[in-house]
Amino acid sequence: MITVDLRSDTVTKPTAGMLEAMFNAKVGDDVFGDDETINQLEAKAAAMFGMEAGIYCPSGTMTNQIAIKCFTQPLDELIADQTAHVYRYEGGGIAFNSAVSTRLLNGYRGILTADMIEPEINAENVHYPHTSLVVLENTVNKGGGACYTLDQIKPIAELCQQRGLKLHLDGARIFNALAHTGDKAYDYGKYFDGISVCLSKGLGAPVGSVLLADKETIKYARRVRKVLGGGMRQAGFLAAAGIYALDHHVERLKNDHAHARIIAEALAASPAVTNVLPVETNIILFDTVDLADAVLQKLAAQGIHAMSTDKHRIRFVLHLDVHPEQVEHVVSVVKSL
Ligand SMILES: *Cc1c(COP(=O)(O)O)cnc(C)c1O
Repeated sequence: MITVDLRSDTVTKPTAGMLEAMFNAKVGDDVFGDDETINQLEAKAAAMFGMEAGIYCPSGTMTNQIAIKCFTQPLDELIADQTAHVYRYEGGGIAFNSAVSTRLLNGYRGILTADMIEPEINAENVHYPHTSLVVLENTVNKGGGACYTLDQIKPIAELCQQRGLKLHLDGARIFNALAHTGDKAYDYGKYFDGISVCLSKGLGAPVGSVLLADKETIKYARRVRKVLGGGMRQAGFLAAAGIYALDHHVERLKNDHAHARIIAEALAASPAVTNVLPVETNIILFDTVDLADAVLQKLAAQGIHAMSTDKHRIRFVLHLDVHPEQVEHVVSVVKSL
């Protein structure tokens, strides 16, 4: 039976080419700064995004949490959408790691505007926590892969600059956003103080994320990473997979987006489905007539594995281990739902 794992784009396995790159990596002790493959990955990612420096970390949770620590003081407040990964899915780390409170906004599919943010910046007053940071997510995971364009980001960046706030991007799927909007990675560096990029999502590396920022911030980020236990040694074997992913797996993301659109069309035509959110990238969110868990069981019986995000809502995520014949299988199963 054909099986298709649509639970997440984190389920990918390294390709043969990636494994070979990992096997051949030149490594050293990265806590001493001696791992040339990690140094190369950090420099490469920073250059791509027009940033000064980078730091390689085991996860996107760690790069986000380090950024928040770098850009805030205890008692500060950050602003994010209520769906934000930094708030919902990082175990309460904002409060625990940084002693910072969170002001949550209601964006459209997680997308915020400067007009939404401005009234939520606290005035200088002892009653109020000091607002010091805005966090955007692109693409928005819980928004079903919705994208910001750079034109939507610019007014937010201007507001942050005027009001002395830092701006961090949770760019776990930033390359999916770039594939959809046509914006250039290099232009992002002008607008953000920090950018977190996951290598282990659609890019297909087994492990790792990079945080990009200016040199001073990254210097401090190395202290914070050590405190969090994220100082790794000969991790160049893993970083090599990240370099390989940046070289070989960025262009192909548009295939995942095309696959998502094909499946979304089939879902929209199914009487078992009441609503399919507009598909911009590699994530499909759809609502089902029956309970999501019942639909998931039917899908699993046909080899298709996915997750529910609500009682009547299911998420499909496309990635590089889903090939055209598997897409066809999903379409035919969806038609029979
Ligand atoms: C996956 C993800 C992260 C990082 O998750 P890790 O599993 O810690 O690497 C951060 N932000 C978003 C939006 C994500 O989807």
